[in-house]
Amino acid sequence: MNRRSFLSTCAALPVASAAFGAQPNQQNRLKDLRITRVTGFTHVCQRPKLVGYNARLGVHGRTTRDNVLRIATNSGVEGVGSGSATQDVARKLLGRTLNEIWRPGEGMNSPLGRADHALYDLVGKALKTPSWRLFGGNGPEWVPIYDGSIYFNDLLPEYKDRGVKQILSEVEDSLKAGHRAFKIKVGRGFKWMERKQGFQRDVDVVRAIRKLVGKEVKLMVDANNGYDLDTTMRWLDEVADANLYLIEEMFPEDVDQNRKLKDFLQKRRWNILVADGESAREVKHFDPYIEAGVLDVLQPDIRAFGFTLQWELSRRLKNKADIKLAPHNWGSFLGVYMQAVLARGIPNFLIAEQDTATSDLFDASAFTFREGRMRVPDVPGCGLVLREDVFKKNYAAQAWTVSS
Ligand SMILES: [Mg+2]
Repeated sequence: MNRRSFLSTCAALPVASAAFGAQPNQQNRLKDLRITRVTGFTHVCQRPKLVGYNARLGVHGRTTRDNVLRIATNSGVEGVGSGSATQDVARKLLGRTLNEIWRPGEGMNSPLGRADHALYDLVGKALKTPSWRLFGGNGPEWVPIYDGSIYFNDLLPEYKDRGVKQILSEVEDSLKAGHRAFKIKVGRGFKWMERKQGFQRDVDVVRAIRKLVGKEVKLMVDANNGYDLDTTMRWLDEVADANLYLIEEMFPEDVDQNRKLKDFLQKRRWNILVADGESAREVKHFDPYIEAGVLDVLQPDIRAFGFTLQWELSRRLKNKADIKLAPHNWGSFLGVYMQAVLARGIPNFLIAEQDTATSDLFDASAFTFREGRMRVPDVPGCGLVLREDVFKKNYAAQAWTVSS
């Protein structure tokens, strides 16, 4: 073994032992922690701006909304995270020990099913290890983030006079906030504008944003399935000089149509990533696309899938170096932090989506955001701190609790 490979082996050791090597020990420690209380509530956060239409839906408004679970144990250690559960389901957790729930190398197995974010926070804290280490600790410390909030605000009655200028000022604000990647909604001709005009406005918006941001910023587009294959190809030819990084949901995903799109991109020698899958609800949904190699980026929703299924999909891509994960995350304050934790854990995470909002309840200062990247902290659990005084004042009254 030469010196370099010896050093890199040594560097890998603490991560490997923290995640897998010390399993019996870890499971022993978890045996003594029993779930005694589960609390659920809704957390609404303010966006810095009004978010308008996309190809299919009307105004998205000024707020994000998360259902949150707090899961407490007899030792005083508590986990918190995004997740929906009924009180009946939450009651089934009471009395369970954490070693029954956490399966090293696999994920959580609990009555909460996909609503598992708080359990990862809890097990991380119980083991005094960052939750990203539970996934193996194979991702980057600084995770790429994009701003997913560039909607059709040129069409809102409030901003109609400003048109495309409104969108450009939003991009400018977001650049000032540190973003270096944007997802731009397209598909205005699906229902908000006459087809041809909508197509042209989509072209104008993307080209204007490219002109504003310069060469280095990543631009992505999402048609919310508002185009078809032919329109997509025609449209991509129109915005060839915009140098797109990724295209999402241009038309309803379909192996044959996606193959034709890939062939088209290859013929043009464009390295544009093709992304889809936010509506998927099962890991196996992606199998035909993985098999055919017609999607470059898979986008299961961070909340609808939960951590365990995201991780399962990541492991399924083990021998598919060209396919990455970039979970869908919209309407959630917590989602971007949950994605960042997953991203530092797995080897095939591409970029995380942010729906920027401000929380009175969570202290996210352990995360640093700079130049389009978020640093995921080395603290036990997922890294967000719930302010107990704010919870008591603003949330306790609407929360439900089950306890043993
Ligand atoms: Mg989408």
